[in-house]
Amino acid sequence: MNQNTTHYSCNQCHVGVMQARYVTYFTRLGSELITVQNFPAYICDMCGRREYDEQSIYWLDAMLDPNAGKPTSSTRRTTPLPSRQTGFSHPMQDS
Ligand SMILES: [Zn+2]
Repeated sequence: MNQNTTHYSCNQCHVGVMQARYVTYFTRLGSELITVQNFPAYICDMCGRREYDEQSIYWLDAMLDPNAGKPTSSTRRTTPLPSRQTGFSHPMQDS
């Protein structure tokens, strides 16, 4: 029994529980479709509502910002998240 697991009830159906999952996140940069694999999200087990980890969204926004783009950037299509992920608790870790 891990009391520290971050799950909370769904804002939409108020019945389901938001479960931490890794999903494939789609977003658009101009006319280009960006795919981010293993994106941390919370998904309702009842209605399927998705909420994404705020810090990861922030990180993604900052990285996709064309104003911050580096000329050597070749990470436009598929972007893995860095292994250090702050603010997102891993439900598997139970040590
Ligand atoms: Zn729900």
